[in-house]
Amino acid sequence: MGYERSPAYVPGQKGAYKLSRSRIENFIRCPRCFWLAQRLKIDQPSSPPFLINSAIDTLLKAEFDVYREKGEPHPWQIEFKVDAKPFAHKDLERWRHTFTGVQHLHEPTNLLIFGGVDDVWVTPDDELVVVDYKATAKNKEITDLEDSKWHDSYRRQMEVYQWLLRGEGHKVSDTGYFVYANGIASGKGFFNKVEFRTNIFPYKGSDKWVEPTLAKIKETLEGDMPKENPDCEYCAYARARTQLTLDAIKATSKTEPA
Ligand code: SF4
Repeated sequence: MGYERSPAYVPGQKGAYKLSRSRIENFIRCPRCFWLAQRLKIDQPSSPPFLINSAIDTLLKAEFDVYREKGEPHPWQIEFKVDAKPFAHKDLERWRHTFTGVQHLHEPTNLLIFGGVDDVWVTPDDELVVVDYKATAKNKEITDLEDSKWHDSYRRQMEVYQWLLRGEGHKVSDTGYFVYANGIASGKGFFNKVEFRTNIFPYKGSDKWVEPTLAKIKETLEGDMPKENPDCEYCAYARARTQLTLDAIKATSKTEPA
């Protein structure tokens, strides 16, 4: 089955509008780019996916599935004192699939939000725990998300999944976990092998911002094109290029014989 491009939003539309979790992130970054993508289907050029990261995600999923099947905690959950084990549920496959994911129709806006979660664990009190796998290669040990703004999108990602699972009627813990695999680049050579050190650490989320943001998204979808971000280098580039093209057209039309 081929991937179908999602339709543009039509102002005043009666039917639900499907919006992925990453589109909420796009809106937070720049309402104008979001508007261009959803209303006119003009997307920023995409960059190629990080296939090494996807491979690590796939392997981590397979590894946690072994313990899910046994109904036991993964040894890392014991090492990092996480009081939970991989959750087995009939919907897990759908929750993890990019194009279906965990879904919730937000009735006040009629936006159908969805997103594929990496993993879900369960506590002894039957609370679901959102889990996000990350892979990187940094010199220092990664034991938290640090204070950087760069990681705000990771925080929001986890909070949207918590909101989505609650929307599907589950009891969800505010505490989620990052499974962070860090590639070690200090060996004597590659030899077809990269060693990783994986840490698991908690993050306490709050999904309070999600619904007010959906209300703003709806308002933006219904409205005119928002202003650009003056600091954005993409918009500066697009403007400069357009101006150059217009100047070139003008110059050519002046030199052409009547
Ligand atoms: S400022 Fe322009 S290019 Fe940059 S994110 Fe917004 S609309 Fe897109």
